[in-house]
Amino acid sequence: MSNYRIYKQQVFETTLKLVDNDLIRLSSGNISMRLPDGNIAITPSGILYDRMEPEDIIIMDLNGNKVEGHYKPSSEKALHYEIYKARSDINAVVHTHSRYAIAFSTVEMELPVICLELLFVGAPIPVAPYQCPGTVEVGTVAAAFFKKRPELKGLLLKDHGLVAIGGNLNDVYQNAYNLETGAEVYHLALQTGKVPNALTEEQIADIFAQYKKP
Ligand SMILES: [Zn+2]
Repeated sequence: MSNYRIYKQQVFETTLKLVDNDLIRLSSGNISMRLPDGNIAITPSGILYDRMEPEDIIIMDLNGNKVEGHYKPSSEKALHYEIYKARSDINAVVHTHSRYAIAFSTVEMELPVICLELLFVGAPIPVAPYQCPGTVEVGTVAAAFFKKRPELKGLLLKDHGLVAIGGNLNDVYQNAYNLETGAEVYHLALQTGKVPNALTEEQIADIFAQYKKP
């Protein structure tokens, strides 16, 4: 039995959580984690997630070469490995084609820090310039943002969706969820015809002080 079985199971379970929360559908979106041996466990390409089994998760190396698995690794594999190469502190990556993220990415609207969900993912959330999906450039452009802004936990990819990063699968799941929820809230607020104010520096400092209290 594969030494990777437990990691495949963890990526599989995170994928199902994202499906349950409607962040990923059909075979869109992909999830990965960096393993202790330096390889990456990643969702397969083109498999409907409601049909996927834990053993369908692929193991690849840091250059995207398959190490183990029946299918091809995700077509967005470069988005994952370029981020891991750029950030040694990041061990999990989620990419979704979730609706509100795609919507704001199409009009290149940055998400301001209007609520806790967006504060916790390092808003203002930028929109990375358009790159053809599946190319290495999608990864290098996103990785450059994360390298430049270490506090950023996610960003929008123009005309495409979102990518979230984290220290582990649980973190990255929450970051993807918060980013999509924040985008949805911003959309709903704009429907009133008013533009919501961003939290001030002082309000943000107070929030972090409050969270640090025992
Ligand atoms: Zn994609």
